[in-house]
Amino acid sequence: MSVKKYTFLIIPEGSHQVRRFNIKRSVLKACLACALVVMTGFGAMTVDYIVSELDQAELERLQTENRQQRNELQSLVAGLEDLQKEMRLMAQTDAKVRILADLSKPKTDAMAGIGGPPEIDENDSFAQLQTRIDQMRRDIDLRRESQEEIQGFLHDQRSMVGAKPSGWPVKGWLTSSFGMRKSPFTGKRKMHEGYDIAARTGTPVYATADGVVSKAETVPGYGKLVVIEHGYGYRTYYGHNSKLHVRAGQRVTRGEKIAAVGNTGRSTGSHVHYEVRRNGVPVNPKKFI
Ligand SMILES: [Zn+2]
Repeated sequence: MSVKKYTFLIIPEGSHQVRRFNIKRSVLKACLACALVVMTGFGAMTVDYIVSELDQAELERLQTENRQQRNELQSLVAGLEDLQKEMRLMAQTDAKVRILADLSKPKTDAMAGIGGPPEIDENDSFAQLQTRIDQMRRDIDLRRESQEEIQGFLHDQRSMVGAKPSGWPVKGWLTSSFGMRKSPFTGKRKMHEGYDIAARTGTPVYATADGVVSKAETVPGYGKLVVIEHGYGYRTYYGHNSKLHVRAGQRVTRGEKIAAVGNTGRSTGSHVHYEVRRNGVPVNPKKFI
């Protein structure tokens, strides 16, 4: 037997009046269904509200993050612009130095990539930014190559200047110059391949250019001799010394004391026989004093 009706009894505390309600099963079912729908709806609304609140918080977080990133991008762009300005200045200086040094223009169009006004705006995408950074990296490499070339050139120039004999090897007076002369020993005309500079025995003899000592020993005729290789085809000879202060293989710089004046070898008095050779050929020291 199925139930058709339900009876609800309400008994208030301390009262004898009992209230009763009769509700049909179908009505009760409908009421319960109604309550369920309302509760479900309310639950759904609550969930929706919570979700939207969370979404709002997430949106705000993302907006803040986005703003920060835009600021960072802008400062990156500004930094890149500064770098580009620096690069342009360097390129200009580089070009000037190359003109001064009489060097050719850089092999590639290093200047082309960095001419003109700044071309970056904040709407540039990260990809464009990356492209610019790559371009700058190439520019820097080219600039470095150019600088190294200039440095090498200057270094060569300096060594060349240092290698060229200059000045007197000893404080004294010229007693015999370069050229044909009557030999003081045989009386015959003979080529004199250097300068004879008279000075007291013991007076210091100095290297007239940077180089490496290739000989520091007694040689027939020259007596105690120092020969210095300077590079760039230059070689100098200092003969008739009384003492040698350097050894073969030793590096010397211009003005360095290498020997003491003497009268060794084929010599008629205390003096230095000074020779300058260019590519093995004795040349007039006059050009190098
Ligand atoms: Zn001589």
